[in-house]
Amino acid sequence: MIPRLRPQLTLCDLVAAFAGRNSVEEFETVFAETMQQAHAVAFPYGRTAQLLLLEAMGLKDREIILPAYTCVVVAHAIVLSGNRPVFIDSEPGGFNMDLDLAEAAVTERTAAIMATSIHGYPVDLDRLDAIREKHPHVAILQDCAHSFAAEWQGRPVQKAGLAAIFGLNVSKLMTSIFGGMITTDDNELAARLREIRSRHLMREGGRNLGRAVYLTAAAAALSPPVFGMVKRISEMGLIDRFIRYYDESLIDMPKDYLSQIGRAEASVGVRQSRRYRVNIQRRRDLAAYYDASLGDMMPNALPPLIDGATYSHYVLRVDDPETYCSEALRRGVELGRLIDYCVPDMPSYRELARGQGPFPETHRLNRTVLNLPIWGDKAKADRVIGVVKDIARSRLVHHSSAYTKDH
Ligand SMILES: *Cc1c(COP(=O)(O)O)cnc(C)c1O
Repeated sequence: MIPRLRPQLTLCDLVAAFAGRNSVEEFETVFAETMQQAHAVAFPYGRTAQLLLLEAMGLKDREIILPAYTCVVVAHAIVLSGNRPVFIDSEPGGFNMDLDLAEAAVTERTAAIMATSIHGYPVDLDRLDAIREKHPHVAILQDCAHSFAAEWQGRPVQKAGLAAIFGLNVSKLMTSIFGGMITTDDNELAARLREIRSRHLMREGGRNLGRAVYLTAAAAALSPPVFGMVKRISEMGLIDRFIRYYDESLIDMPKDYLSQIGRAEASVGVRQSRRYRVNIQRRRDLAAYYDASLGDMMPNALPPLIDGATYSHYVLRVDDPETYCSEALRRGVELGRLIDYCVPDMPSYRELARGQGPFPETHRLNRTVLNLPIWGDKAKADRVIGVVKDIARSRLVHHSSAYTKDH
């Protein structure tokens, strides 16, 4: 069974989780260098990082603009910081928030725009520059949990704004087991973040061993021979922790969201940061290979090729992604639908988002996005490609026979 997600962990990473001695400060230094930023400040989760960033900026009762098509925890952090989320529909034909709609939503209460490079496709930095020029009171924050160091025409997205937020759990482009990071070139903001962090976060020695064991379990569970079995176990809820890590009906945080990472997470993070460039290049090569192999048969399903994308999730757009998922699973390949929801439509947000929208492009993404595994070698990719083509072919046959029958 080929799982959709597989963290790129080496044996050394796993050993480091148990025996590594890197400090959180060392991890921050290496991460800041990797992202070419002056400062990196570590947190227990990306959402904790975002929550405390909004506090460090002194924001309360303000409006924060964010995509409707994004990870729901981004909205949670905004609400729990005492601010109001303003959701924006996706751009036609792409995955990112429509920046014309974002600009139109700016009011005098707007404090920030959470620019997000969904699935690793870089957000349009030229358009963001123009918005910043016209509305200097609005801070640009980069949510880099999908993109990490994606580039818009050669400019790294994480550097284009006041600060960037990263999530580092095992489903991301690189991992420190759990954890989150903020990078910034602003000395004052970095100092304020460190001060707020020392006030809010607890250091718990006990977190290290638990996290190391968790990483080993995750690495084992997501390796192909074991994954088939795990997939069955998952129906019993045992691996929910890294597949579904929020509750649809609640706006809340994990109970350890204020417990700071320790040396286990830092040691893995240091090693993963050092391999970041190599791993991203591999993903880009694999994405190009998928494009070349699937282009003939499914030209309309391919996302636009964008230089500088980092492909946190390789995307196809098809009419019936659920069918692809279930058919592929029967053939030993796990496909997925990373974001199959529109945040303002979720029960916990309906009231808060009343009067916002509509979100037709986000709904279209919800109906059509299919995520392929993007790890491993060409042989694995060939298996995935074979399965996807097979399903596409049988659907073509199915549709054309239905057509002749009806007419
Ligand atoms: C994963 C993710 C985050 C932060 O995730 P945490 O689980 O809190 O570390 C933020 N934004 C997006 C778009 C994400 O996918």
